[in-house]
Amino acid sequence: MVSSTAPTATTAPAPRNSNSSDIATKIALAMRAMGVMGTPRNYEIYYEVFAGSNSELNAELGALGTRPRQDELDRLSIKYFIQTTNQLFVDNVRDQIANKVEEVMILFERERIQLERYGSILSQSSHGLKNREVVTQEILQRISGIMASATDSKIEQGKQLVSHMIDKSAELEEVKSKLEEYKKLADTDPMTQLCNRRAFDRSIALVYDDPKKILYSALILADIDRFKQINDRYGHPVGDKIIQHVASIIRTTATSDMVVARTGGEEFAVIVHGLKESAVTELAETIRKAVERLVPISGHIGTQGGAVTVSIGACMAAQAESADDLYAKADRALYMSKANGRNQSTQFSALPDLTTSKNWQLYKSE
Ligand code: GH3
Ligand code: MG
Ligand code: MG
Repeated sequence: MVSSTAPTATTAPAPRNSNSSDIATKIALAMRAMGVMGTPRNYEIYYEVFAGSNSELNAELGALGTRPRQDELDRLSIKYFIQTTNQLFVDNVRDQIANKVEEVMILFERERIQLERYGSILSQSSHGLKNREVVTQEILQRISGIMASATDSKIEQGKQLVSHMIDKSAELEEVKSKLEEYKKLADTDPMTQLCNRRAFDRSIALVYDDPKKILYSALILADIDRFKQINDRYGHPVGDKIIQHVASIIRTTATSDMVVARTGGEEFAVIVHGLKESAVTELAETIRKAVERLVPISGHIGTQGGAVTVSIGACMAAQAESADDLYAKADRALYMSKANGRNQSTQFSALPDLTTSKNWQLYKSE
């Protein structure tokens, strides 16, 4: 089992409502107590366990005891964090590219040496001719023979170089297309095929790169309601299917130019472009109603279990200062939807003063 100092899914508070530097300190202390190196990959495992969002990972880490070995942590990292697997692949492809470039450099170096040799044969031959007062037919024949054979072999070497270069560039093309394929994989959430958090972070940062985009861009966040209960009642595999179903509804409700991502366990985000606030509100409501209508729990377990619902928060990019601020504001709107009873959507601009809001305080203390 995990030691008493280590975070577990049952004892750890959800990080969302805690001070983030407190959480970081607690995780760092737990890692130190267990003799775990403070690398980003290890931190990622402990953060996930601390957040309690993956009970399987929690159990597997617990099974490693109070002093987990680094190779055991690496195995968990590869199993649970697709980015790690992809990063290893990308590292490997980068090594392959470096090797191919090295091979091409060796070919060029060989070519340089051969050219030098060829040049020196030509220059020796011409010196041989210049330094003689009488050039006999025999000497002329011998020197031209040397020059012809050096030229023939240089032509042959040149042909070989061209054919080697063609081989190398074909191999490089192959490695390059593999890299493209895996780059796409590295941006995809394997469970839902939506963008993953990493791709989402990159896309949301771009909103603030182009001032023209800001006015009609927005972020919509959706979080499945009472999902823990669904998991507890019907089991994780049913929970997974519901996540996939909700994901596909959000993907098909949003237009193809919108980035749709799974940003956490049962949390989704839509980066909207080209809509004014009323249209964003409408889209959020369309998503909410589609989930309510199309994701009956019964469809997944064969009994009447009611509908799966989502709570939604939205914020226009122009109402925030940065990507982080936009996320935080959409998140606050989402939590107002939760506080007001769930299965509803809220725009950040419609929020009352959050510091004094009763509902907000109520939700926080839940
Ligand atoms: P709320 O309405 O406040 O959002 O309540 P909730 O129960 O949905 O919220 P909470 O964040 O407490 O619980 C989310 C749960 O989602 C906890 C975690 O076990 C579960 N979860 C996270 N990722 C996955 C996953 O990939 N598959 C399944 N089946 N469950 C997951
Ligand atoms: Mg959640
Ligand atoms: Mg939830």
